[in-house]
Amino acid sequence: MLDASRRWRAQGHTVGLVPTMGALHAGHLSLIEAARAENDVVVVSIFVNPIQFGPGEDFARYPRDRAHDEGLLSGVGVDAVYRPRVEAMYPPGASTRVRVSGVADPLEGAARPGHFEGVATVVSKLFTAVEPDRAYFGQKDAQQAAVVRRLARDLDFPVEIRVGVTVREPDGLALSSRNAYLDPDERRSAVSLSAALRLASAAYAAGERRPEQLRKVLCGRLEAESLARVEYAQVVDPETFTPPGTLAVLAVRIGKTRLIDNHDLSKVFPG
Ligand code: AMP
Repeated sequence: MLDASRRWRAQGHTVGLVPTMGALHAGHLSLIEAARAENDVVVVSIFVNPIQFGPGEDFARYPRDRAHDEGLLSGVGVDAVYRPRVEAMYPPGASTRVRVSGVADPLEGAARPGHFEGVATVVSKLFTAVEPDRAYFGQKDAQQAAVVRRLARDLDFPVEIRVGVTVREPDGLALSSRNAYLDPDERRSAVSLSAALRLASAAYAAGERRPEQLRKVLCGRLEAESLARVEYAQVVDPETFTPPGTLAVLAVRIGKTRLIDNHDLSKVFPG
């Protein structure tokens, strides 16, 4: 991978990297399109990263479908697909982890111990393997994007971090590889995340600024759904991920499936 990337760069080409865990959908494709528009060469990585999953999480059953991914990628003009093996990324004895503090500590960091350490470690390794000029992340995982920005700055990776808007289903549900876990009843309940964000955005637009009231709007809509269990619903600063701020962030269990979503309440909710 590194040889190929260095050859492209020696020819004066810019390289854009889109890191994914596969089970590709239109959210991933929108990042690939952005990379396509801004770089000469686009690399997509597909790696289900074991160290960012906690014990009891869904690493073993995470959807892996190479034929599906290749079908989608064949239509969008990707120059290389980088699929390292787990043993190549983490050979026996590998014991180094990259830990970002501050922005990685609350919310997802608190709910999923070790998760962002796994993310920061694999993203560092992907940056080392590809040496991209730009790397593309989704606003869907807003805290992850902030962690990666911090990581790139602090470790002097010469890469520009670009963040793409969240792609949604027509009813508002953010696309996610994990949506495949939802049965039809759960799928209907899952609209509550985007519906809650939309209501809180409307409350903000009507002048509501009290964090507790905005939280009440979010939780009220989420708790109206019998299948939904709120893990967190907060309104935070989009850089630090601590209150106060305007970014509403949600983690909700729908049955056994954990979904996250977010929206900047100072902006109109799309659709
Ligand atoms: P994943 O394969 O779930 O690790 O996601 C790979 C990248 O795609 C991450 O940067 C995600 O934030 C991004 N992504 C996931 N879902 C969406 C979505 N609905 N819209 C835009 N980007 C997304």
